[in-house]
Amino acid sequence: MTATPVSIRPHPARSRPRVTALDAMPTEGPLVDRYGRVHRDLRLSVTDECNLRCTYCLPEVGARFLPHSQLLEVDELVRIARVAHSVGITSLRLTGGEPLLRREIVEIVARLADVGFDDLSLTTNGTRLAPIAASLAAAGLQRINISCDSLRPERFASIRRRGSLDTVLAAMDAAEAAGLVPLKVNVVVMAGVNDDEIVDFAAFARRTGRIVRFIEYMPLDAEQAWKRSDVVSGDDIIRTIDEVWPLEAVDAADSSAPAERFVFADGGGSIGVIASVTRPFCGNCDRMRITADGAARNCLFARRESSMRDLLRAGASDADLGIALREEVWRKLPGHGMNDPGFIRPRRSMSMIGG
Ligand code: SAM
Repeated sequence: MTATPVSIRPHPARSRPRVTALDAMPTEGPLVDRYGRVHRDLRLSVTDECNLRCTYCLPEVGARFLPHSQLLEVDELVRIARVAHSVGITSLRLTGGEPLLRREIVEIVARLADVGFDDLSLTTNGTRLAPIAASLAAAGLQRINISCDSLRPERFASIRRRGSLDTVLAAMDAAEAAGLVPLKVNVVVMAGVNDDEIVDFAAFARRTGRIVRFIEYMPLDAEQAWKRSDVVSGDDIIRTIDEVWPLEAVDAADSSAPAERFVFADGGGSIGVIASVTRPFCGNCDRMRITADGAARNCLFARRESSMRDLLRAGASDADLGIALREEVWRKLPGHGMNDPGFIRPRRSMSMIGG
């Protein structure tokens, strides 16, 4: 990877993929879709439940969660992960809902670490992390992302509606003390809500060495209140920071990572921008998801999915499950379609899918 001067031009490698002439789904070899995208990354949700009610994700009152009988049991989670690994998944991220609400989370991490993924990570809101960070690391967790949308206690409370900033900052310290590094901090940027903290978060990244990832607000909130005018574009985020501390883009055109990375030109650390709305990176997407109730989804915005849990509970073999995963990937559309006329949001919101 090489650093180049900051650029806010469209990224050609991040446009939509071209169809390649594959006329039948391969039943062995890489986990590939009809457009030739090889899938290596799985987001596995261990619960749809969350203890926060972030404005961009869940309603303040009336959030409904799945009955526990519908969730994948620990053995089922591990089996699906093992099958996913056998068909080509090398990177696994645990998510939710809030994954640390799952009582067996340390056991789940330990058993998944045994599967042999190259990368095993977890995304959390940080509210329950500090007491178990060391146990998670000892169980084999390699890295962690912590969500934090404001560095001002009162605003944090108004966005997240539960929990406290102090707890989340303490969780970041605990994660680093446990060796869960590099620590990434996820910030959903919303116009008129926290976009006046972009420079504060950049200063935070410089001061702490943590990789702050600015995420464009996506139409995945349970209350369906999202408006395009609420989105602060990745370009605007970069421009705002670049005016204070010049940035250099890290050229990773071959990368499937959702974040476009930038380093501070003076060597003061790095940030990322996840511009799913304004600069979709579907052309390089290598991700699939399994929801907490075991549905395989080939895209955050997919409007169809297939239940691995039902197959598994009906007695499917590992080979059957592997084929089901391949079929789900094979069906993937060229892009998420968010900017197409007639775009329809998925039925599930972010916390029900697993971000
Ligand atoms: N509970 C964990 C957490 O808070 O990080 C993991 C699940 S959460 C759904 C995963 C990520 O999705 C978080 O970083 C969160 O900020 C992000 N997210 C949720 N709703 C979003 C939305 N509408 N647009 C963009 N990001 C969103």
